[in-house]
Amino acid sequence: MNPSKDKIRNFFSPRILNSNAYHVPSAEGLIKLDAMENPYDWPETMVEAWLACLREVHPNRYPDPQPLSLKQSLRQYAQVPKEAEILLGNGSDEIIQILLMTLLGHSDATVLAPEPTFVMYRQLASMLGIQFAGVPLQTDFSLDPEKMMRAIQLHQPQLVFLAYPNNPTGNLFDADLIHELIDQAPGLVVIDEAYAPFAEASFMAQLENYDNLLVMRTLSKLGLAGLRLGFLAGPPAWLEQLDKLRLPYNINILTQLTAEFALAHADVFAKQTSQIRVDRERLSKQLQSLPMVEVYPSAANFLLMRVPDADDVFQQLKAQKILVKNLSPAGGLLKNCLRVTIGTPAENQAFLGSIKTIIRG
Ligand SMILES: *Cc1c(COP(=O)(O)O)cnc(C)c1O
Repeated sequence: MNPSKDKIRNFFSPRILNSNAYHVPSAEGLIKLDAMENPYDWPETMVEAWLACLREVHPNRYPDPQPLSLKQSLRQYAQVPKEAEILLGNGSDEIIQILLMTLLGHSDATVLAPEPTFVMYRQLASMLGIQFAGVPLQTDFSLDPEKMMRAIQLHQPQLVFLAYPNNPTGNLFDADLIHELIDQAPGLVVIDEAYAPFAEASFMAQLENYDNLLVMRTLSKLGLAGLRLGFLAGPPAWLEQLDKLRLPYNINILTQLTAEFALAHADVFAKQTSQIRVDRERLSKQLQSLPMVEVYPSAANFLLMRVPDADDVFQQLKAQKILVKNLSPAGGLLKNCLRVTIGTPAENQAFLGSIKTIIRG
């Protein structure tokens, strides 16, 4: 049954052989503050109403290939401009993949993004053999205007990804500068607004002012990470072509039904996310009062912090059953940085209590 090593080596290209699969650490038995999940369950009456809806599903049938009423709910929820079209993805990860796949024919296509940023842009580009130009952020994690402009002129990127707010740094980039970048970019600019529920800023309304802007959203960080539903909004002429790369049934029947149900209860999620925003400010202040911890401003549902020895703090937190993200292995600007997702008040206080004792040694 097992093929020889040579068979595998001859079959796959070096870029696949030499890369690693996206690693998701086990969180069994741990307080999970590593993946920007919403920690709150639904009210019991909502669960009951949802289960009643699920009874109407016919799993023997294919899902609706163009779920119009779901799209309508998403448009309304995200205030997508009337003239814009939307394309649904199995998470925004799939949309990133679709965008990158459009470049496969080009021999010298380049994708550009500031770094550090969401790792999927580089990871998927590299898997597909598409050139990726990472432009370093400044030490405060803001965009470097000259470097960005120069890189755009030099690389003439087909695609620019800007996470707004950025992950893993949590900050919003300067909006005026983003406008300039959209003006200068020869190709498409994709603003990834995964953290929109926690930020007070968006480029959604700006779709009307540009012909090369796309805005990407996801329901994951809102509180529906398990559904895998993201969407891209933008000019119909772009989305019409991108839609050719989308698998016809990429959004399964349970996701379609559940997302529409959830959006009909948007008030529940609004309450949860506003609680998370309040708790973010509280935890941020508490962490700032600790000596030797530097906390960065966040418009997302996580905080980035720098500690004296992130590997050690990460391991000690884990020993105390708290899982955060250790960004230190990425090096560079993220050396000794940890990212903690805002959990419930109890989870946040457990994290705070642990890190206090760890830092004090
Ligand atoms: C989490 C995240 C995503 C991925 O979202 P999914 O819809 O769950 O695939 C995309 N972009 C950024 C910046 C993220 O942090």
